[in-house]
Amino acid sequence: MRTYRLAVVKGDGIGPEVTEAALRGMHAAARRCGFSLDTADVDLGAERYLRTGEVLDEGTVSALRTHDAVLLGAVGDPRVPPGILERGLIVALRVAFAQSVNIRPVRLYPGVQSPIRGVTAQNCDLVVIRENTEGLYTGGGTLAHAGTPHAVAVQNSLTTVAATTDTVEFAFRLAQERRRRVTLCHKTNILMHAGQLWQEVVDQVALRYPEVEHDYVHADAMCQHLPLDPGRFDVVVTDNLFGDIISDLGATVQGGLGLAASANYNVAGSAPSMYEPVHGSAPDIAGKGWANPAAAALSAALCLAGLGEREAALCLEAATASVLAELPSLAGPGMGSDTAALGERIAARVMDVD
Ligand code: ATP
Ligand code: MG
Repeated sequence: MRTYRLAVVKGDGIGPEVTEAALRGMHAAARRCGFSLDTADVDLGAERYLRTGEVLDEGTVSALRTHDAVLLGAVGDPRVPPGILERGLIVALRVAFAQSVNIRPVRLYPGVQSPIRGVTAQNCDLVVIRENTEGLYTGGGTLAHAGTPHAVAVQNSLTTVAATTDTVEFAFRLAQERRRRVTLCHKTNILMHAGQLWQEVVDQVALRYPEVEHDYVHADAMCQHLPLDPGRFDVVVTDNLFGDIISDLGATVQGGLGLAASANYNVAGSAPSMYEPVHGSAPDIAGKGWANPAAAALSAALCLAGLGEREAALCLEAATASVLAELPSLAGPGMGSDTAALGERIAARVMDVD
């Protein structure tokens, strides 16, 4: 039987709850489609940092590298100062494993209510493709005279043609299988150097995909168009920071953070890709059973697709969507079911969906 080695970082807060629920669905999809998942828990996150003072060590990076994929719950804790886990763990893993492309589907599933009027399952099905290792996230820069009236901060932003091309190429390839439209989202009128590089890469790559249309929308205008007219977008390609912001906006449009999935993709196959819900550790609801496991389950479906198990991925996505449609509310005590029970329901549904 085909077996995939999956590293599982359950993490903190609701991370373990949603990941366990997602894994149930994933194993069910594997059983249905005739393969198996060999999972290994990897201890990373705030709990480990608070216990040992260590965020990420070489040994753990090497161990993760031997797996076919990494499934991540969420990391974060109010006791850990900002930046330590985001930069030291999440960004560090994205860079170490050359996960240069971030995929965030924005899809409103039938039966789910968007908080934005006029958004329906028919007009909301797009994918945000975000460059994942560069831009302002490289972290370089200086803060001079901190804490004085003369303080000056310089925050560097890096854009290479290599990472941009990986990202744009991915977007066009995906668009070709979908509705054949790529929209570049940037701020080319202000960020002129990076903006020019992005536009040139899009124009170059577009030559290889003559059947895919492409257009351009400023990042600020996107904040208006995405919620009001999501149907005009198929694949949106953008840089690291704009991608972070507009995909959170997308999460709201599609029904909330509890439903938003993502993949950090190593395009070359030289290291594992990593799959994680868009939401964080949600310490406010941890331990209550109120977390919606859909975002984690849909991320697990992206993982199955990334492993090449397309049918299993479609089963898990359909099962999750079908369970979502039955919930009286998308999060909290009004969900009518707790996180673990929803995981069981998703797993059972995997066996039933067509
Ligand atoms: P972190 O610092 O780890 O990012 P956070 O609190 O800043 O944590 P999130 O964890 O993303 O950010 O949570 C934001 C809000 O969304 C919280 O009020 C949380 O309860 C809610 N939320 C997040 N994920 C879910 C989920 N899966 N189901 C229900 N509510 C969720
Ligand atoms: Mg957060």
